[in-house]
Amino acid sequence: MSEEAMERIDLLIEHGLVVTCDRDDRVLDDGAVAIRDAKIVAIGPTHDLRGRFEAGEVIDARGAIVMPGLINVHTHTPMILLRGLADDLPLESWLRCMREASGQVIDEENVAYAAELAYVEMIRSGATTALDMYFYPEALARSAQRTGFRLATGPVFVGSIGLDGLAPDQRLERGRALLRSWQGSPLLIPCVMPHSTYDVPPDILLVAQALADEFDALLSTHAVETRNEVKTVTKLRGAPPIELLGRLNMPSPRTILAHGVHLTPEEIAELARTRAVVVHCPMSNLKLGSGIAAVPEMMQAGVRLALGTDGPASSNDLDLWHAMRMAALLHRGTHEDPALTPARSIVRMATCEGAAALGMGDRLGSLEPGKLADVILVDLRRSHLVPIFDVYSHLVYAVGRDDVSHVVINGRVVLRDRCITTVDERASIATVQRIAGLIGARQVC
Ligand SMILES: [Zn+2]
Repeated sequence: MSEEAMERIDLLIEHGLVVTCDRDDRVLDDGAVAIRDAKIVAIGPTHDLRGRFEAGEVIDARGAIVMPGLINVHTHTPMILLRGLADDLPLESWLRCMREASGQVIDEENVAYAAELAYVEMIRSGATTALDMYFYPEALARSAQRTGFRLATGPVFVGSIGLDGLAPDQRLERGRALLRSWQGSPLLIPCVMPHSTYDVPPDILLVAQALADEFDALLSTHAVETRNEVKTVTKLRGAPPIELLGRLNMPSPRTILAHGVHLTPEEIAELARTRAVVVHCPMSNLKLGSGIAAVPEMMQAGVRLALGTDGPASSNDLDLWHAMRMAALLHRGTHEDPALTPARSIVRMATCEGAAALGMGDRLGSLEPGKLADVILVDLRRSHLVPIFDVYSHLVYAVGRDDVSHVVINGRVVLRDRCITTVDERASIATVQRIAGLIGARQVC
């Protein structure tokens, strides 16, 4: 084909081991991905795509895995400010401590600074999208846009006056204005987030659901994280969390429930029936001693699952590779069965199933023509990654976040050769360090 006949594209990633995570789990040796206008336009053998496209930028992925970006479906990023402040506490005391410490530093500006560094941390670890639940969602959205990170977020509902000073009855109108202002934003996925059934009374849960329905947004809440939560909600609201949500007619394919640790077999069947998503957060559940979710049973029952790190104050990092490895290992140990939770299913949980959880299954989560270009490169030329026999085994049991060399989000290279291209990472670190210095002036935990 002549030069003139070649199609112009923005970016060609070539010579990689391409793990598509598509329906057939296609893997291409010496494969290439062509990207134009934020979308993947073609995938195929490098020599084919080289002959078809003339690229503005070429990334040589020789010796690297090229795969969809990881999707973190449950976190609270501004809590990086509190990372490691209070370990070894049960959830309820830990939450009290976090509220006290947050009260000293949380305002809109500091949330934006903290979120910016958290998005940098996630980009560095190969995540391209997260669902982020925190106060000041407008600040989260701004930081995501600055760093070039894709974010599901939106209005938070809590049962009392929040850290942002808003009373429950002020949240609906502000939430509506916020979601209206985000319509058409390429990096934002609208999500309404009532904290939990223990914190938020049923009438406010219904207000949150109505707001989500009005904007065709997702609804995410914490559910069944600890045994104590189940007891508390039953006592307070007359039914355990899942039954309560069912009575309110809330669970749907647009519902995302974080944790789901202490579900009964009947509740698992009900979640499978309603197609609600459960986000497995193994690191946080273990660290807070909350318990171990029945992941193999949920898989067996057909519950839609995704993976999350939870906030960096409870799991202490935002590393989905850790979460993937733990999700693969944990249930084998408890069930004494090495065939459970296969590596390939864990990779899908962190990619295409995470995308589907966010209602973005047709646009994200796999490398396919027509999808948005959220792509990462994992450098295999490292001492701990040689040799390679099974790419999924490597991704779950051997790869770590420092192996991520390039990250592309919405067609834009946001990490190039391990350097963040969008914001000043050093300045961001210094700012968060300064803000964190304000905590601990007095004993809070
Ligand atoms: Zn959480």
